[in-house]
Parts: sequence; structure tokens; C-alpha cells
Amino acid sequence: MPAFYDTHAHLTYPDFASELPQVVARAENAGIQRIISIGTDLESSRRAIALAQQFPNVYAVVGWHPSDVLEAPEDIRRELRELAAQPKVVALGETGLDYYRLPSRKPGFTEADDEQYKQKQADLFRQHLEVAAEVGLNCVIHQRECFEETLAALEPYAQRVRGVFHCFANDTPAMQRILALGSLVSFTGILTFKNGQNIRDTLSATPLGQFMLETDSPFLAPVPYRGKRCEPAYVKEISEVAAQVKGCSLEELSEATCRTAEAFFRFESRP
Ligand SMILES: [Zn+2]
Ligand SMILES: [Zn+2]
Repeated sequence: MPAFYDTHAHLTYPDFASELPQVVARAENAGIQRIISIGTDLESSRRAIALAQQFPNVYAVVGWHPSDVLEAPEDIRRELRELAAQPKVVALGETGLDYYRLPSRKPGFTEADDEQYKQKQADLFRQHLEVAAEVGLNCVIHQRECFEETLAALEPYAQRVRGVFHCFANDTPAMQRILALGSLVSFTGILTFKNGQNIRDTLSATPLGQFMLETDSPFLAPVPYRGKRCEPAYVKEISEVAAQVKGCSLEELSEATCRTAEAFFRFESRP
């Protein structure tokens, strides 16, 4: 069975609390040999590190999600440095920018609140990039409805830090600009959706060796599980569609995506 990795899952979400050992075992049985659990704040980052200690094939990424920055302290660099030094921490994130759900969409908030929110996202994104450059890790980047701003923020760090634009849903020219910076993209179960043709087109144009696969569990379950809770085992369904789109064998896709993830996260050097 060809091996794959789930390079982006949120194993610390309550959705998995009742059966985490089973979730990890099902992934192993489906050939998913490594799972990276992604933090969204300091607390979930610490729990991701604890899971990486508990399960040999689980790794941790530590950081603060852009959608949750209003709850974040002004400066998290000291905490990021401490977390980054823990065993099996393979990147910082998820960090980035998200203009999809701005405060002014809710009653009682104004456009001034939006500006403050965007500013704080930008500050925290920069802190992740700065610490990543300092400690020699890469960044897992979340971006929604602000591609230009996100790319511009990464650019000054691109010589020292690679990013993976996770859950990639932009077009081929956007993908090419990311690769030109030495960064990567990764694709989720959206690849399997009937209305996912634009994303299949982007994958089709993305060279083998420049992208990874992920579930973003518990979200975005691929067909035939669409709408249900997603889990890392479903990388199998995502890989089957990805191989079709790329016109390659599952073995070739396995070899290329695992090699790409090894180079990006350097699991072996992060014991
Ligand atoms: Zn995300
Ligand atoms: Zn995520």
C-alpha cells in the first residue's frame, strides 16, 4: 500500500476527544504514516506537542490562527520560541491572514475594528515568520480572501523561511507565485468535490514535488464522506483523486508528496 502523510490535521479539536487512539490507528491502517497536528493557539499547540509524545507517528506544528488573534497577547515570540524547541515540533503555524470573517460582519463592530483586527493578524504573522527564521523552521500558512497581502508579508522572509499555503484554493498564477518564492501549496478533500474543478485545474498545473496533501480534519471530508467529520485516514481518498488529476500512479504520488513533506518538515531532524 503506498504511504501518504496527513500534513494538516487538528487532532486536538473536541471532535476527536472520545476516540483519538482509534482515529490514529485507522489512519495507519489506511497507509497514512505520519500525521501533523496543527495548533491554533498556545493551548492547542501545547496539546499537539503532548499528542506527538503519545503517538509515534504524530508531529506538532505550533502557532496562533489568524481568525483567533483577538484573543492573543500582543507579543507571542517568547512562547513561540519555547514551543518550537519542544520535541517533534516540525513547523510554526498555522499563521497567516484571513479577511473572510471580519468583525464588522457582526452587530456592534465597525470598520475601525476590522482595521485593528487586520493589523493584529499582520503583527502575529510577522512574529511567526521572525521566530521561524531564527530557529530554522518553516511556516504553515492560512490565507483566505487576502492572497496579495499574505504573499507580500511572506516575501521579506522568503530567503530564510519556506511557507506552505495550506488548503490551497487559488488559481494557477497564484500557485506559481508561491513556488517562485521557494514555498509550497497543499491540497485538501476539496479536490474530490463536484464543484472543485478550479482546484483540480490548479493541482494539474502544480509540478510533482511542489505540493503536499492534507485533510484539515475535522473539516472538509472528501467524497464519499463529504459533510461528515473528516479524519486523517481520508488522505487515501484525496490521494486517489490527486493521482488521477496528475495522471500518475499512486506510488509516484506517494514518493513525491512524502519526499516533499520530508524536505519541508524534516521529521528526522526533529526527534
Ligand atoms: Zn487554515
Ligand atoms: Zn487548519
